[in-house]
Amino acid sequence: MLVILLHMEQKLYYSLKQIKMIPVTKSFLPPIEEYTAQVQRAYNNGWLTNRGALVLELEDKLTEYLNLDQSKILLMNNGTIPLQIALKCLAKGGEVITTPFSYVATTSTIVWEGCTPVFVDIHPEYLTIDETKIEAAITEKTTCILATHVFGNPCNVEEIERIANKHKLKVIYDGAHAFGVSYKGKSIFEYGDVSTCSFHATKLFHTGEGGAIFCKDPELFHQLYYSHNFGHDGPLAFHGLGINGKMSELQAAMGLAVLPYMEKMLRGREASVKTYEEALNHNFQRLKLRTDCAWNFSYFPILFENEERLLKAERELLANDIMARRYFYPSLNTLPYVNNKQLPISEDVAERVLCLPLYFGLQAVEQALILASINNFS
Ligand SMILES: *Cc1c(COP(=O)(O)O)cnc(C)c1O
Repeated sequence: MLVILLHMEQKLYYSLKQIKMIPVTKSFLPPIEEYTAQVQRAYNNGWLTNRGALVLELEDKLTEYLNLDQSKILLMNNGTIPLQIALKCLAKGGEVITTPFSYVATTSTIVWEGCTPVFVDIHPEYLTIDETKIEAAITEKTTCILATHVFGNPCNVEEIERIANKHKLKVIYDGAHAFGVSYKGKSIFEYGDVSTCSFHATKLFHTGEGGAIFCKDPELFHQLYYSHNFGHDGPLAFHGLGINGKMSELQAAMGLAVLPYMEKMLRGREASVKTYEEALNHNFQRLKLRTDCAWNFSYFPILFENEERLLKAERELLANDIMARRYFYPSLNTLPYVNNKQLPISEDVAERVLCLPLYFGLQAVEQALILASINNFS
């Protein structure tokens, strides 16, 4: 800490003394009056869940915000349930080709739904599933591909679609990080048979807890819809099996209060990303964004030469009360409940990747401290 402060101006030193801890991310909190005004609407309606006025309004507003053209959105209570429902409807207990480099929910939902994850290694720069290795992993039991637009970076959706069509497989995209991302001028959620998103408090757009599913095919959408509401066909009949995946009015109230701030949040994050890019002095490997993609500044991952260097940097940051996070470690093929087959690229990346703090409201002095810790570390 001292070494770093010696490099800083006196004024910066005093403002740094005010800083307690810098987390890797911070939930965006809209002005409380704006949140309570939305909650008041739920009170006035006397209606707290089961697709009330606020949920319906948030669906409309998100359809517009995301420029959804062919796909419909269905809001849910978190970002995990849409994956489970999609897998239940499309994977049917078969083998699911998936990425080992994602949050654990991408794999755990496959196992939870009684399917078998079959891992395919990732591209060393895009960090998304390596589509050139998918076909070799297909067997007669394969039903589905579940890939993640990791850190908001789109998968090679065209090639994955070609492979899926050729082998009659379904495609689910875990778009938990991809809110607001577009690819070739279209929302990333328009790709695949089904896409999902998470609106968890730590995600870019949030409803506290929450999530959504996106789907173009009306028949499949109908199945996803009744599946998220116990299978109900009116009060007395059932279309089929279902679970409770409904978003409540209280969650939608948060979403309606957060949504108007999206542009402001994105511009703030963009500025922080730019500062990192300009001021980081090590030659870290950075996330390579796919061309034709409008990105959302959701995460700032850097890759160290090896794990030892990463751990040293992590200690240095912690000494300055800065919480970076090892997103994503471990490589999911090493989880105790899956059949581990070695995936050299994903395992190597997982050992070397660290996400630096990035959130709306990250102060210049805070970012200066983060940069000083990383730049001075050797
Ligand atoms: C956050 C996340 C999820 C789970 O979303 P929740 O809303 O927390 O249930 C799934 N997949 C990925 C890649 C995530 O980052």
